[in-house]
Amino acid sequence: MSLARGRPYLAIPGPSVMPDRVLNAMHRPAPDIYAGALHEMTASLFPDLRAIARTGQHVAIYIANGHGAWEAANTNLFSRGDRALSLVTGAFGASWANAVERLGVRVDRIDFGRSAAVDPGRVEQALAADRGHEIKVVLLTQVDTASTVRNDVVAIRAAMDAVRHPALLAVDCIASLACDPFEMDLWGVDVMVGASQKGLMTPPGLGFVWFSDRALERCKGSDLRTPYWDWTRRAFADEYWENFCGTAPTHHLYGLREALTMIVHEEGLEAAWHRHRTLARAIWAAVEAWGQGGDIALNIADPLARGHSVTSVRLGGAATRLRAWCAEQAGVTLGIGLGMEDASDDWLRIAHMGHVNAHMTLGVLSVIESGLAALGVPHGAGALDAAVAVIAAG
Ligand SMILES: *Cc1c(COP(=O)(O)O)cnc(C)c1O
Repeated sequence: MSLARGRPYLAIPGPSVMPDRVLNAMHRPAPDIYAGALHEMTASLFPDLRAIARTGQHVAIYIANGHGAWEAANTNLFSRGDRALSLVTGAFGASWANAVERLGVRVDRIDFGRSAAVDPGRVEQALAADRGHEIKVVLLTQVDTASTVRNDVVAIRAAMDAVRHPALLAVDCIASLACDPFEMDLWGVDVMVGASQKGLMTPPGLGFVWFSDRALERCKGSDLRTPYWDWTRRAFADEYWENFCGTAPTHHLYGLREALTMIVHEEGLEAAWHRHRTLARAIWAAVEAWGQGGDIALNIADPLARGHSVTSVRLGGAATRLRAWCAEQAGVTLGIGLGMEDASDDWLRIAHMGHVNAHMTLGVLSVIESGLAALGVPHGAGALDAAVAVIAAG
């Protein structure tokens, strides 16, 4: 008999759990797009979007998923024949590099595997070797959602500065936005890419590109820029419709308004970062305990290289069965493994991004442990106690 009836929990890394408040804010008749409340509400989004990126610079909104936000950044950044350096730590970083390359940009890749962060020393070497300063942009993923590796943006910026390389630094923050600490201006990031459906707790469909004065200036002549993706028109719109290059994504904007109120004005961004870090540590503690008595392990050994919004777990040969048990018997859907080198049946991902709290996290861990027991998958004892201790310590 299934115990799944009740509120289901979709613990996959995007789309994330949507608060009822966000859904309710969207449940309204179509608003007038030519004047009135929609215009005022939209204007209120921009300061909050700057706040979550920690920037006083520019932001453009797109009706797009994360791939669309990549394309927006790419077409503004590059001209055909430009060169980029891509730092790959998982399947999403690899995909971004491929998307850039398909536009006719020459992409140098440094691949750090699937279980380790970018080594800033190798970035420094690669940039030092580029004596003619041909590399225009360094592409980095803060948290690669497939491997769940988190990169040290500050150290990579320092490596670029150490060799006085003028390349722009562009960071994909789609999985980490409002979950992991990020400081666009303080850290010297030129371009940052985000999307609505992960830490921002809003349905998929909005993409964001933040960009610095330096990027604006340096990319004025980019010949891949098309009218629709042009960030200048969207960020510096004279008329309302130019913000979206056409009809506004009205209901998504109302949902986003509510989500930003919850994150920026009620909880506070730093408290949201702290919440994600603590919930992540509870999950890591549990997985480490299971691993003491079975073929179960975190993908990333170094805690400093783990994202705070999603955790990739190796579960030798049992991942598919465990995911099915959790969904069918307990109402929890875990993420599939993605882009790892060995069989997909060895991997799953637990998402803990956005609208998640202590009881949801402890619930997911208890369900996983129940599934391990029910399926006879060997695992160490004490995982739930370890997670409880993290939560109790706050
Ligand atoms: C989810 C994600 C993407 C892709 O976003 P889509 O909305 O699926 O196109 C890209 N990069 C990262 C880091 C992500 O987490």
